[in-house]
Amino acid sequence: MQASLYQETVRFAKSSLVADRFDSTTSEYAPGSERWRAAASHGLLGLCVPEEFGGSGFDALTTARVMEALGYGCEDMGLAFSIGAHLFAAAMPLVRYASPELRRRVLPRMCSGEWIGANAITESEAGSDVFALCARAERDGDDWILNGVKSYVTNGPLADVTIVYVKTDPSAGYLGVSAFAVERGTPGFQFGEAFEKMGLRSAPIASLYLEDCRVAQSTLLGTEGAGAEVFRSSMQWERACLFGGYLGQMQRQLETVVDYARERRQFGKRIANFQAISHRIADMKLRMESARLLLYKACCAFDRGLDATLEISMAKLAISEAAVQSGLDAMQIHGGIGYTTALGIERELRDAIPATLFSGTSEIQRDLIARELGL
Ligand SMILES: Cc1cc2nc3c(=O)[nH]c(=O)nc-3n(C[C@H](O)[C@H](O)[C@H](O)COP(=O)(O)OP(=O)(O)OC[C@H]3O[C@@H](n4cnc5c(N)ncnc54)[C@H](O)[C@@H]3O)c2cc1C
Repeated sequence: MQASLYQETVRFAKSSLVADRFDSTTSEYAPGSERWRAAASHGLLGLCVPEEFGGSGFDALTTARVMEALGYGCEDMGLAFSIGAHLFAAAMPLVRYASPELRRRVLPRMCSGEWIGANAITESEAGSDVFALCARAERDGDDWILNGVKSYVTNGPLADVTIVYVKTDPSAGYLGVSAFAVERGTPGFQFGEAFEKMGLRSAPIASLYLEDCRVAQSTLLGTEGAGAEVFRSSMQWERACLFGGYLGQMQRQLETVVDYARERRQFGKRIANFQAISHRIADMKLRMESARLLLYKACCAFDRGLDATLEISMAKLAISEAAVQSGLDAMQIHGGIGYTTALGIERELRDAIPATLFSGTSEIQRDLIARELGL
């Protein structure tokens, strides 16, 4: 990737993507906002979508680097997270599995920012055990009738198109799961209110209610029963590229703590002169760089068409856990001022914590790694 694309994205994110109230509990949500449209005009909503559908057609490594630039330049991780959910878990499954007609109709609107994307698989009794989902689709002539309740749909209440995972054959386990692209306004398709949460506040999350929701066969992604494959493919993109945003956040945090440690004086010295502080910062750097190399390695493997499950899980695990630790380190180094809302240090910790939960928890990533090792 050209260095200029990274730098240009950082410059753009710093100047155009941060809003005053993005961390408020009564937040102005990022999807659909002025900033969302600005991100679209800069190409951020279609990074890895092929050019014929209005995207840039970047590979995973370039996409992850741009997400990194976004996380570095834009302090609102909620915006980066919403873009990630839209692009990796909604647009990319459409790119790969939707019919040519559906792709032509939906993807250009998603890349231009006119339409917002979401994905809905999690249910109250199907979290990590994701294919234990209960939502159903039953055939009715040429249509399917969807019923069920989904929890935690990022971008949910505002989404124009949502990839919904349901069982079409409950007796077939994960091979009985299918994915449908359901559009806002379809009768029987209704989001709840966005709920309050710890961080990522400009990214709305809501439940989704499906009540006799009738959709055409043409909204099916791939074939009947291909839902597990669609989900796995979208998670590969999300676990690889979305987490580039957290690398950017960690880089910014590192620079902030270095500046602070050089300026803040106690006992007549700069706190950077206390080895307890400087070694903590050295560890922050080491953790971030190790996670970065894992991500780049994972993206390279993915871009070469290899099964990169092991590399992607390691990268996701390393970045998310490093982001939480980096948030804690930044707080400790700042002392009391870090705990106040004055500098945004506590916000970055709140934004980092869910990274170990969404896209598969840390425990699930360790399970995937163990399985890849033959355990
Ligand atoms: C910010 C955020 C955004 C999200 N966005 C979306 C979205 O857009 N669409 C969507 O469908 N979902 C979304 N989710 C849901 C997310 O994917 C789930 O929260 C996640 O998969 C974990 O499921 P759970 O919350 O039910 O936890 P559980 O699965 O109940 O897990 C609870 C604990 O048990 C552990 N555990 C579970 N199984 C095992 C095991 N086999 N071995 C060891 N430990 C285990 C977990 O790791 C965790 O620590 C989002 C979640 C968050 C927090």
